[in-house]
Amino acid sequence: MATIFTRIIQGEIPSYKCAEDENFYAFLDINPIKKGHTLVVPKKEVDYLFDLPDDLLGKMQIFAKKVALAIQKAFPCRKVGQAVLGLEVNHAHIHLIPLEKEGDMIFSNPKLKFTEEEFREIAQKILANFEKAE
Ligand code: 5GP
Repeated sequence: MATIFTRIIQGEIPSYKCAEDENFYAFLDINPIKKGHTLVVPKKEVDYLFDLPDDLLGKMQIFAKKVALAIQKAFPCRKVGQAVLGLEVNHAHIHLIPLEKEGDMIFSNPKLKFTEEEFREIAQKILANFEKAE
């Protein structure tokens, strides 16, 4: 059975798209711990990030870098943090999170709530900066 992220990539489940290329898709985490919290996923369905073949993992990191720079342009912050958990969804993904302080990266922090319109605006800002840099 397809993972929830595959169903998102295929457009079967809606998402707030932040970036895309032939191999990867980036979209807003639905339970963000920071405004701009984004997930980067490979279109190839692999459970564990570190099981990805080296060439794809390398390309994914470069794609994630471009997304991180777009996030930082859209939402100025000290740095964009990167994390790999994968304990909830068995489809490899990288979390990108705008940071001001160490505590911004704590996944047990309360989740932020945004309206659909706010989610759309956040994603659109990131996507615009990603596309501008392409
Ligand atoms: P992890 O597997 O890295 O522990 O957590 C999975 C992440 O995916 C969580 O932060 C969760 O909020 C996010 N997530 C789970 N299901 C969905 C979904 O259907 N849509 C979106 N946009 N994010 C999801």
